[in-house]
Amino acid sequence: MKERYYAQDIEKKWQDRWEEKKLFAVTEDPAKEKFYLLEMFPYPSGKLHMGHVRNYSIGDALGRLLHMQGKNVLHPIGYDSFGLPAENAAIKNGTHPRVWTSQNIAEMNRQLHQLGITYDWDRMVETYKPEYAKWMQWLFIQFYKRGLAYKKESPANWCPSCQTVLANEQVVDGRCERCKTEVTKKNLSQWYFAITQYADRLLDNLDDPEKMPGWPERVKVMQKNWIGRSYGSELRFRLKDSELEDLDMTVFTTRADTVFGVTFMVISPEHPYVDRIIAGQPQEAACRAYIEQAKKQTDIERSSLTKEKTGEFTGRYAINPANGKEVPLYLADYVLMNYGTGIVMGVPAHDQRDFEFATKFGLDIIPVVDPGDPSIDLYHLKEAFVAEGKVINSGKFDGMDNKDAIDAVRKEFEAQGIGHATVNYKLRDWLISRQRYWGCPIPMLYCEEHGWQPEKEENLPIYLPDDVEFTGKGESPIVTSKTYQNGVCPICGKPARREVDTMDTFLDSSWYFLRYCDAKNDRQAWDVKKANYWMNVDQYIGGIEHAIMHLMYARFFNMVLYDMGLVAYEEPFRNLLTQGMVIKDGKKMSKSIGNVVSPEEIIEKYGADTARLFILFAAPPEKELDWSDTGVEGCYRFLSRVWRLVYEFVGIAEEAGFASIAEAPKRYLCESDDDRQLAYVLNSTLKRVSEGVAQRFSFNTGIAAIMELVNEMYRYKDLENTNVGLMFDAAEKLVLTLSIFAPHMCDELWECMGHEGSCFEQPWPSVDESMLVRNTVEIVVQVNGKVRSKMDVPADLDKEAFEKLVMESCETKALTEGKTVVKVVALPGKLVNIVVK
Ligand SMILES: [Zn+2]
Ligand SMILES: [Zn+2]
Repeated sequence: MKERYYAQDIEKKWQDRWEEKKLFAVTEDPAKEKFYLLEMFPYPSGKLHMGHVRNYSIGDALGRLLHMQGKNVLHPIGYDSFGLPAENAAIKNGTHPRVWTSQNIAEMNRQLHQLGITYDWDRMVETYKPEYAKWMQWLFIQFYKRGLAYKKESPANWCPSCQTVLANEQVVDGRCERCKTEVTKKNLSQWYFAITQYADRLLDNLDDPEKMPGWPERVKVMQKNWIGRSYGSELRFRLKDSELEDLDMTVFTTRADTVFGVTFMVISPEHPYVDRIIAGQPQEAACRAYIEQAKKQTDIERSSLTKEKTGEFTGRYAINPANGKEVPLYLADYVLMNYGTGIVMGVPAHDQRDFEFATKFGLDIIPVVDPGDPSIDLYHLKEAFVAEGKVINSGKFDGMDNKDAIDAVRKEFEAQGIGHATVNYKLRDWLISRQRYWGCPIPMLYCEEHGWQPEKEENLPIYLPDDVEFTGKGESPIVTSKTYQNGVCPICGKPARREVDTMDTFLDSSWYFLRYCDAKNDRQAWDVKKANYWMNVDQYIGGIEHAIMHLMYARFFNMVLYDMGLVAYEEPFRNLLTQGMVIKDGKKMSKSIGNVVSPEEIIEKYGADTARLFILFAAPPEKELDWSDTGVEGCYRFLSRVWRLVYEFVGIAEEAGFASIAEAPKRYLCESDDDRQLAYVLNSTLKRVSEGVAQRFSFNTGIAAIMELVNEMYRYKDLENTNVGLMFDAAEKLVLTLSIFAPHMCDELWECMGHEGSCFEQPWPSVDESMLVRNTVEIVVQVNGKVRSKMDVPADLDKEAFEKLVMESCETKALTEGKTVVKVVALPGKLVNIVVK
């Protein structure tokens, strides 16, 4: 008998066995109900952290349960393995990004294996590999052919000292991360994906209970805000100066009712009109300085509500078409070029940002909506008044409800041919080109005669050149290759210049879930039949930080692929769980704070089972998890307690003359109150674990129930007149149930009880509902007229339910085992007589 639980002795052994048997490999089986379980794939940083362990442990417990319940569970893993860190490592250490990446993947694979997760390893997807890049490029070309990929000039972050383009994450407080020089903007011709064409569908599906029923409300709200659809009007203003009369100064507004309250206008500093507007004005120099200053700020900083308003008068005036009034035109960075038309009408009385701007620059504030509240002095406002009221100071619209005036004013403008209703979105097209090496090459060629053309599909993949230098300066390292840019126009066969930009890595992660369905296919990106068997993802699990970009891009991608007939579902992820962070001492685990607990350290000391159990026990998955060393220790002690209990039961079985617990008969007959108590705790535990885990991710309450069961089993075994059959049954079910949380230890115990194989291969124990009934009457069970057993059943069951409950109970099954039931006579609340042959 093994006295002590040492995880180190058993975990590797079981991991090897599972892999030898390919226990977690799955294929499409139409006879089985499928379940696609997916955790967001990691970036190969080289080190697994607790956030990963949490993510994968949550998925794994669910996957094991569903598999044991008979579902065909697909649970794949891979690596999101293009991206900047590999390139930075190349600049710093001279290691090629491919070498750095593959070494890190090997290292992370090793750590992942230590966790014993149920991955189908044969479906591994590594996005940096040519076989993935090939289909990424093929997809790019399909998007291009559908008019969803295009090139246009747009500003990029530029470090004048390094002479290089910077990604947003390389800009820290407006400065280059490497050399601390102030970052400016530089216009580059870049590739875009037209995600805005899908804005309405991306938005409307969020509220479709058929398509994405299990998404957290919080994530849906974030996506809605990001898309930012608003219904409003476009109203055309013009400038006073006759030489600028041709400029269309149209504004977008949701508040056409306030047009009589316009006291100034603002144009975005990067608006293409600005050059003409300020040229030759006395204010030109000041305006140019302001434009330079605005370039250094991010859109997020500029649109921050708390930022102090800045601006510069252009010296020009616009004419308000509603009342003919002349109003000054300013440059101000709070107006972004990419929202609306890049020009706004300033209504300081009824818009807070305009109010702050007008206050700072001493501009008029004219109220045009009156709330009818005497406590508000409309002519000495302390802040903008945004609520509803009656229209004032607006000519013929005076006296209307301002809500009605929105339409009335727009119609008036429409009648004059200078306005119309429109919809506006905050969502912008997706800038997908990166001036980087370590990404998937964009498969496009530029021919002097035929312009941009996609590479011939038979030439894919176009892979990254090796004859490059990583200096961190100047253009992308790809440009240093002698041959890479030398392509051939697919139309005329003449030399064409190959695109040197690579793709945003968010493209790679926008379809990896489809590749998992058919990961080894070298003839197509995936087989549609296979994808349609597995898709869509039944449960997706990942961090809230991906609520917008990754989840929006993947939805967009999948929607386009749906339109192309490459997948049968419009939405890729049916249910989404966003797990909380792992913190320690109230702070996020981070190297700089020095509070990082490494998974390896914990696994070495306690084993993966303890780490997994603790992570699932300590907090519900969506909540923050506060790391606690004593909590980990407690989980280890609990597993040890289960270990000793099972070995003790094995000893009892041997003493009773059985070869093993597996060989011993399991008797369910409950003769005493203690028997019934054990049966009750056992079945309520099974119920709490299976329902709690599958429906609500209530791992922690499930584990707490298992702990109660173990206590009850300890109590029961020391009683006189115990029913060993009941005890053995409880021991087997305990091990099977706990195996979804502590799979290595439970397989070891399963084996020591005399069983073969893994708990994973066993059916999930079913709940005997009759054992859960507490408010009851005692009835007798007769077999061929003789009283054989007594049972507690609910007092108020009808005949049918009563008979069903009694006949399906484990006790009755034990009584009739091996016999044929000929007839059943049921008298609710009294007895059941079973006639058997
Ligand atoms: Zn720099
Ligand atoms: Zn050509």
